Amino acid sequence: MDIDIIELLPNSVKFILEDTSIAFANAIRRIAIAEVPTLVIEDVYVLKNTSPLFDEFIAQRLGLIPLKYDADTLELNFRDECDCNGIGCNLCTVTLTISKETSQEPAIVYSGDLISSQEGVEPINSKIPIVKLGPNQALELECMAQLGIGKEHAKWQPVSAMGYQFYPVIEIDHEKIKDPKKVADACYRNVFSVKNGKLAVENLLNCNLCGYCTDFAEPGGVQIKYDSSKIIFSFEINNGMPPSKLMEKAGEILLSRIDELKNKLEVITTSEEE
Ligand code: SF4
Ligand SMILES: [Zn+2]
Repeated sequence: MDIDIIELLPNSVKFILEDTSIAFANAIRRIAIAEVPTLVIEDVYVLKNTSPLFDEFIAQRLGLIPLKYDADTLELNFRDECDCNGIGCNLCTVTLTISKETSQEPAIVYSGDLISSQEGVEPINSKIPIVKLGPNQALELECMAQLGIGKEHAKWQPVSAMGYQFYPVIEIDHEKIKDPKKVADACYRNVFSVKNGKLAVENLLNCNLCGYCTDFAEPGGVQIKYDSSKIIFSFEINNGMPPSKLMEKAGEILLSRIDELKNKLEVITTSEEE
């Protein structure tokens, strides 16, 4: 299997997987979304809340704030598997607090007001609004962040968008195209251009195989096909984990699942033989 990186940004990546199957791409996608652990606020202890929002409302907002977490520098246990029996300790829980109050001027409580007990754990963006405090209002909270997976609740998903498609193949019959500009303008993803009066493919990888442009060409003038041996994969990370790290974790989990299946099959085969 070959991997060709097309675009690599700090929080997103687009690459081509070659000589693989759609089943493999889907397995990686499902594991990355649902099984790679991330750290998110789960419990909130409200010490003081005179803001306009109910405690539950604020707790729900806090749970949706993505937190930076590097599993290599901070090893945490799942809370229900920790030696503390799920009570919460330094090995499974990170505490974040907020303490903010206003005098005469109103103020917004932002994610950046969360103070973490653990170096390296902080909101990915300090400008996520939590609640607006009016004059003489206060918010004082203690939040417990813990590891979880997207299968349990979507707030633990490390990615906000993850998808794939087959590699596009666009065939143009120049003899049949009477108005190349009309076809080029029809594509809302700027796949085509017109060069020397002829329709040309300018940005092939922008094509999402929708087929819309074929309605603007004469029959057979433009054919949208795909190469099923190549898959364009793209995703966007929401917790600051490098994209390569997410893929590495998803791969490790996939391999451990295969080992698990292999071991179970061996046990069944052995017991049948006995
Ligand atoms: S199939 Fe859709 S995205 Fe691709 S070139 Fe045609 S209109 Fe553009
Ligand atoms: Zn613990």
